[in-house]
Parts: sequence; structure tokens; C-alpha cells
Amino acid sequence: MTPFSYHKPASLDEALRLTDASSRFIAGGTNLVDLMKENVERPERLIDITGLELDRIESSNAGGVMIGALVSNADLAWDPLIRQRYPLLSQAILAGASPQLRNMASTGGNLLQRTRCYYFYDTGTPCNKREPGSGCPAR
Ligand SMILES: Cc1cc2nc3c(=O)[nH]c(=O)nc-3n(C[C@H](O)[C@H](O)[C@H](O)COP(=O)(O)OP(=O)(O)OC[C@H]3O[C@@H](n4cnc5c(N)ncnc54)[C@H](O)[C@@H]3O)c2cc1C
Ligand code: SF4
Repeated sequence: MTPFSYHKPASLDEALRLTDASSRFIAGGTNLVDLMKENVERPERLIDITGLELDRIESSNAGGVMIGALVSNADLAWDPLIRQRYPLLSQAILAGASPQLRNMASTGGNLLQRTRCYYFYDTGTPCNKREPGSGCPAR
């Protein structure tokens, strides 16, 4: 693993100030840490966003729902508003991963996770997505 610095900002502004091309946000870490262990991702700076207030689920004025980026998959799936108005979303989340992962995984991280293609995670194999032009063993 490549050495990196770790920061835990107390505000959104501070988090954004820390951001540059060599940094990555980390929420639940269930995808990013796997990628770092395999040297697929090599951020120089990890910005832990779990201290930010982005964990609310609220009805929006437009009649929809606002889901904070840090709402865990488990909290989202079991939220009464989601279960009542968006039962398919709740069922889809509960059909994925495992209880332990759903407790850690955040909504933002779920949407921004990298492809789950096996070869992408294995640096011993080529992969066009990881290294453009190297090939695609999945094909
Ligand atoms: C065994 C296993 C089974 C799984 N099964 C499923 C499944 O069935 N269905 C499914 O959908 N997923 C599945 N996953 C993936 C899992 O849901 C994701 O790993 C998880 O949702 C990622 O969330 P996280 O908070 O841990 O993200 P992290 O690992 O912390 O981050 C993932 C990426 O998102 C970025 N990021 C995170 N939060 C933010 C933010 N707020 N703003 C900007 N960037 C951000 C990070 O920089 C990183 O690049 C599985 C994972 C594992 C390990
Ligand atoms: S380029 Fe091929 S090997 Fe790489 S992620 Fe896509 S399908 Fe998988």
C-alpha cells in the first residue's frame, strides 16, 4: 500500500479545501479500502467525511425525498419514509451485499463505487478501465 495522509474535516468547507487530484473522500471505506489494498487506488490524502452532517433523510418540497450522502445503506433501507413511499428501493438495497456491509456503506459511496468487475480489482490481469489500452479479459 502507498503511504497516505489522513484528515477528518469538521465542516464541508474544510473538506473541500483539502481536496485535490491526489485526494479521495472516504465514507464507509467498503470499496475504497479494497481498491487501496490492491494498489488500484493510490490516494496521497484520505479525507474522512464521516464527521460531516450529511446523514439525514428528508421529504423535499417538490414531493420527493432528499437522501444525505452519508446515510448508510441499512438506515436508508429501513427508514419508514423510504419503506412506505419507495418500497422497491428498500428491497433492492436489502437484496445487496450483507448486513455488515450495509451498515458501513454510505449512499454516496454506493453511487460512486467503482465497477465490481473481477479483473478491475486484480492488478495481475490487464483491464482497459484501470489501464486504458491494456485489454479486457472479461471479453
Ligand atoms: C462483498 C461485497 C458485496 C457487495 N454487494 C453489493 C451489492 O449487492 N450491491 C451494491 O450496490 N453494492 C454492493 N457492494 C458495494 C458496496 O455497496 C459499496 O462498497 C458501498 O456502497 C460503498 O460505500 P462506502 O461508503 O463504503 O464508500 P467508500 O468505499 O468510502 O467510497 C467509494 C468511492 O466513493 C467516493 N465517495 C464516497 N462518498 C463520497 C461523497 N459523499 N462524495 C464524493 N465521493 C464520495 C470515495 O472517494 C470512493 O471513490 C458490495 C461490496 C462488497 C465488498
Ligand atoms: S475493461 Fe473489461 S476487465 Fe476491465 S472493468 Fe471493464 S469489463 Fe472488466
